[in-house]
Amino acid sequence: MAPHYVVAPTDPAGHRFTVTLTVDQPHPDGQKLRLPCWIPGSYLIREFAKDIVRIEATCDGKPVRLRKVDKDTWQADPVQGPLTVTTVVYAWDLSVRTAHLDQTHGFFNGTSLFLAVVGQEDGPQRVTLLPPDDPACSGWRVATTLPRVSGVHHGFGSFEAADYDELVDHPVEMGTWTLYTFEACGVIHEFALTGMHTCDGERLCRDLKAICEHQIRFFGEPAPVDRYLFQTTVVGDGYGGLEHRASTALIAKRDDLPQRDDPPDGLTDGYRSFLGLCSHEYFHTWNVKRIKPAAFVPYDLSREAHTTLLWAFEGVTSYYDDIMILRSGCMKPSDWLELMGRAITRVRRGPGRNLQSLADSSFDAWTKFYRQNEDAPNALVSYYQKGALAALALDLTIRKETDGRVSLDDVWRTLWERNGRPLVGVPEDGIQAIAEEVSGLDLEGFFADVVRGTDDIPLAELLADFGVDLTFRPADGPADLGGRASSVPVEKLRQRGELGARVVAGGGGAKLANVYTGGAAHRAGLSAGDVVIAADGIKVTGTDLVGRLGRRVPGSVVALHAFRRDELMRFRVTLQAPREFVAVLDLSEDPAPEVAARREAWLGC
Ligand code: ZN
Repeated sequence: MAPHYVVAPTDPAGHRFTVTLTVDQPHPDGQKLRLPCWIPGSYLIREFAKDIVRIEATCDGKPVRLRKVDKDTWQADPVQGPLTVTTVVYAWDLSVRTAHLDQTHGFFNGTSLFLAVVGQEDGPQRVTLLPPDDPACSGWRVATTLPRVSGVHHGFGSFEAADYDELVDHPVEMGTWTLYTFEACGVIHEFALTGMHTCDGERLCRDLKAICEHQIRFFGEPAPVDRYLFQTTVVGDGYGGLEHRASTALIAKRDDLPQRDDPPDGLTDGYRSFLGLCSHEYFHTWNVKRIKPAAFVPYDLSREAHTTLLWAFEGVTSYYDDIMILRSGCMKPSDWLELMGRAITRVRRGPGRNLQSLADSSFDAWTKFYRQNEDAPNALVSYYQKGALAALALDLTIRKETDGRVSLDDVWRTLWERNGRPLVGVPEDGIQAIAEEVSGLDLEGFFADVVRGTDDIPLAELLADFGVDLTFRPADGPADLGGRASSVPVEKLRQRGELGARVVAGGGGAKLANVYTGGAAHRAGLSAGDVVIAADGIKVTGTDLVGRLGRRVPGSVVALHAFRRDELMRFRVTLQAPREFVAVLDLSEDPAPEVAARREAWLGC
């Protein structure tokens, strides 16, 4: 008989699930039980076992000794007959990666609750979900894509997964969520929204339907799922998503959801970003949930699974998420150009882009990208952001060199046919090999420079061939995200002295969040974490420091007083010329006919 887990939200106020696991045929030498230490899609060792606050085992009603073997493994004494293991799990992390329970709702990933029965992971796994006893939680329903065995749709009941890998790939939401439903290419899609909101469900379904259908047709019908669930928790401020094989768990900012009084066709910045998140996670249904690096086949959840390919799964997905919205007609080309300009800006801001390659950023995700400190902009590059630029560059290179016969779309569709539909892990050199095969091009130079190298990608030249002008200018303030022309003439921006640091308000002054390597602040001896309280003897109250320094020309010397910890220090800073990293993209005016044709084939505009 399959391992059977009974999950009960026993203590919503104390944030505790109780999970009772029955193993009918425990290992004769003593059954080992292990909780994963990471969750697929989020590449950080998280030690979920730290949240097990109680664990005990019985057989035939008598206690069985459990010995802790390592940080996340227990071994029971040998027993004759079924072994029952009861765990109490603390669930109070409002993220898509763990578990959360209170009187308003319960959410969990299997990686937080289900101890793997070592040796029985490859067979079926059964789950029974029990409703809470607490009268404060009456009326709760269940949203999950776990395959149901008993109970009504959205009710509590029993479920069965084919193996442990599947068991932990269907998160569960219980509560009084709002449900929206739409059909895409014949597949029912549900959108469950937890938390207080005034979302315009009709608008949301209309847009998501177009985006999902576009993606299904991109890879080819039929869709790889029988049904799909967007499971969203609404909060005042937050953002996050995690992909699963038939669902995604999202955290969204309340104000980012579409509202009834929004303009019918335009996208607010917030809604544009939320649609981007939905599109991103949905694209993962193919790219990383089915087309996977060989290093993830199978997942070893007991330790890091290193691959140099995360850029191809996160970066390429980040490239396609917004393109899919554009091509499905839910976004205007000007929106897309602005978003791409912002992506380029984020990459160009940090000197670390010239120190760490995409391949290294992928491999070291566990210790660098996921564990960033104040020095991160100097030390690393994001495989999401630079990965998206690499995807853009690869797409344009292939389109240009093949005269438009082949594109990155063809490469990813071939990956789907070869490595996704029958699951065959992509080897470390597999992306380059398939891109070369599909395009017929020698891409060694491209991959050496863009994926394994650290030079900036020459995007301006590539984009010009597709009727898009890329220009760079200095930032016009601490809140400048790029992608838009500045209201301040560029010549004036170039006359502003710059500190070479990212400044935020904090600590009673201007706090240096990051100090860029080689910049004016670095050369003057300032450090990230320092709080500047005066410039040339005049009090600084926050980010006004940036504007005040901007009134001085590059080369000016400024005296700054700053606290490091509780000690006052004085610095003489020679302001630098502003760095021109803010990217703005525009459609070229009057492009040559062949350039216009390339742009039309690529962006549909
Ligand atoms: Zn992703």
